[in-house]
Amino acid sequence: MPVDEEKVAPTSVDIFDQSLGTEEVEINPDANFFTFPPPLPESGNPYRVKILRGQKGWMSYPGKDGKPGYLATDLELRTIAPGDDKKDDKPLFDNFASTMVMQSTHMSKVGGIIKAIYETRNQGEVLPAKTTHADLARLLQAEFDKESEVGVVIQWEAYCEACSDEKKRVVVKGEKRFPQLEDGTHSSELPHGPCGSTLSAQAKVVRYVALK
Ligand SMILES: [Zn+2]
Repeated sequence: MPVDEEKVAPTSVDIFDQSLGTEEVEINPDANFFTFPPPLPESGNPYRVKILRGQKGWMSYPGKDGKPGYLATDLELRTIAPGDDKKDDKPLFDNFASTMVMQSTHMSKVGGIIKAIYETRNQGEVLPAKTTHADLARLLQAEFDKESEVGVVIQWEAYCEACSDEKKRVVVKGEKRFPQLEDGTHSSELPHGPCGSTLSAQAKVVRYVALK
């Protein structure tokens, strides 16, 4: 979606006015506006990507139970697969990566991403064991600025609005669960059993990994 699109207020019109809308447009009559390009296949995992900051950018979140807050950003990733038109220069999105340290791993997602970038670059860089939320965010921002390379693992995911409510989020995960096509690939559209809605798969980034 272009963000720099000029914002001009629309006006009410009479579409039978002869002076109106004479600019020619070209369309493909065979195209279907209501289908989305299928996501990248999981069989390409792990994908080599360039890492960029998302459109939303860095946000500050208050911590839970009075604990200090943390920082988070969205990410945009672009696949690198020279010579493979189907897999090269495709966008992937990650809506949320934070500096919040998980008790189970003593690591934050932002830290994990930086680590995977360092290991991919293989120049002996290591994460600082003692740091601050801001310093970790700045380290990752420095990698966005350089459009550093890293590996990502994706998984197809489709959210069912009809089956979800405030308490429960119903999501179908994994390309295997989408209908197989004759050529062995999977359709990105799934008729959801419980409700009959058609769900569309999106590629969700589930892991960042070091690539050699
Ligand atoms: Zn459903």
